[in-house]
Amino acid sequence: MISKMLLRNSGSLKSLTRGGEPFIQKELDYGAHNYHPLPVVLQRGQGIYVWDIAGKRYMDFLSAYSAVNQGHCHPKIVQTMIDQAQVLTITSRAFYNNLLGDTEELLCKTFGYQKVLMMNSGAEAGESAVKIARRWGYQVKGIPDNQAKVIFCTGNFWGRTLAACGSSDDPDRYRNFGPFGGLNFHLVPYDNIESLEEELKNPNTAAFMMEPIQGEAGVVVPSKGYLTKVRELCTKYNVLMIADEIQTGIGRAGKLLAVEWEGIKPDIVTLGKSLSGGLMPISAVLADESVLQVLDPNSHGSTFGGNPLACKIAKTALEVVFEENLINNSRELGEVFRAEFKKLEGGFVKEVRGKGLMNALEISTPSGAWELCEKMAEKGLLAKPTHGNIIRFAPPLVINREQLYEGISIIYDSIKESQ
Ligand SMILES: *Cc1c(COP(=O)(O)O)cnc(C)c1O
Repeated sequence: MISKMLLRNSGSLKSLTRGGEPFIQKELDYGAHNYHPLPVVLQRGQGIYVWDIAGKRYMDFLSAYSAVNQGHCHPKIVQTMIDQAQVLTITSRAFYNNLLGDTEELLCKTFGYQKVLMMNSGAEAGESAVKIARRWGYQVKGIPDNQAKVIFCTGNFWGRTLAACGSSDDPDRYRNFGPFGGLNFHLVPYDNIESLEEELKNPNTAAFMMEPIQGEAGVVVPSKGYLTKVRELCTKYNVLMIADEIQTGIGRAGKLLAVEWEGIKPDIVTLGKSLSGGLMPISAVLADESVLQVLDPNSHGSTFGGNPLACKIAKTALEVVFEENLINNSRELGEVFRAEFKKLEGGFVKEVRGKGLMNALEISTPSGAWELCEKMAEKGLLAKPTHGNIIRFAPPLVINREQLYEGISIIYDSIKESQ
C-alpha cells in the first residue's frame, strides 16, 4: 500500500508511476520521509532527458536543482570519472596529490580569486564561508571574541545543517530542530538596502551572506542595482560580502556568476551543485588571500574535500561549460523562455521571472503548482514546485532552441488544461 500522504497529493498517481509502485514503496518503508517526490521512478539520464523504469522519456526541467547544468551523464565528464576512479580516488589531505593544485588554479583563474577551499556539499561550503568570515572578523576586523554577527536575508536557503537552519525564517527548516541561540545570525528582508545598512553599521558585523537570485524562495530576482549597493555598503562598513552562487553560478543565470549581471566582486563566493556536472558532491569557497589566510593547519577540513577524483571531475565539468558555450546558451534561451510566458501573464500565470535558464512561473491559484507539475509529467516534462504556487523551470544548459520550444509547448498545453 502506497502511503496515504502520497495518494492524497497525487491525483494522477497511477498514470505517473507506470509500474514504479514497488520502488516507491521500498523508499517509503526503509527511507526517511524527508522529501515529497513526484511519483515518477527514474532509471536513466542523458543530456536534457531522463527515462522512467517503463522507458518513458521526460525532459528534465529541474536539473537536480541545477546540479546537472552540463546535462545528465555528460560523456566527457563520465569518462574522466571512470579514468580517474581506476587510478586514485582519495588520499585525504594528510598528503599532497597531483591533481588538487591544478583544479585550485583553474577555479581561481576562472572565477577571478586568489585562493580556493574545496569542500563537498553546498551546505558545507556555506558553513565554511561563515566560519572563515567569523575568523576574519576576529583576526582582521578586530571584533571582540565570540561577538561576531552574520547577516542573512529572509527567504534564504543554503542547506540543511544546523547553522543553515539557524539562519532560516522558514518554519519547515527550523521547527523542532533548535535551539539556535548562540549563532548570532540576523535576518534582513531580501532586496532591502536600508535594513541591511542598519545591520552593517554594527561594528561586530563580520559578513552578509546572500544569494544573487534566491532559488528555493521561488527564483526571487532583486531590483536592479541591489547587488551594487550591497557591494558598496559592505566595503564602506568593512563587512565581508558572501555570495552564495551554489545554484545561480556556473552559467545557470546566464553569466558565469550571477553577480556579473552587476559587475561586482563579492569577498567570498560559494559554488556547488554543477561544479561536478552532477556526478558527485563537490563544492568550493573562493576568496582572496587577505580573507582565506585566516585558515591555518588544523583549523578546518574534510576527509573528502579536494580528493583527486573530485578535482579531476570538477576540472572537466568546468571545461565542458566553456567548450559547449553553455553560458551564452543559458542567457539567450532564457530570454526566449520568458518572452513566451510573458504572453500569458495576467491570467492563470501571474508572473514569469528569472535570469538565464533559472526561471519560475507564479500561478494565480494558491496550490495549482503541484497539479500542473503532474500534468506536465504526464506529457513528458519534469519540474517541481518550490512553493504552493511557484514552479521553477531550470533545464540543463545543454538544451537547444528546438528542445526548449518543445518544452514550452508542453507547459503551454498543461496550463491550458489547468485553467
Ligand atoms: C542547494 C543549495 C545549497 C545547498 O547545497 P547542498 O549541496 O544541498 O548542501 C546552498 N545554497 C543554495 C543557493 C542552494 O540552492
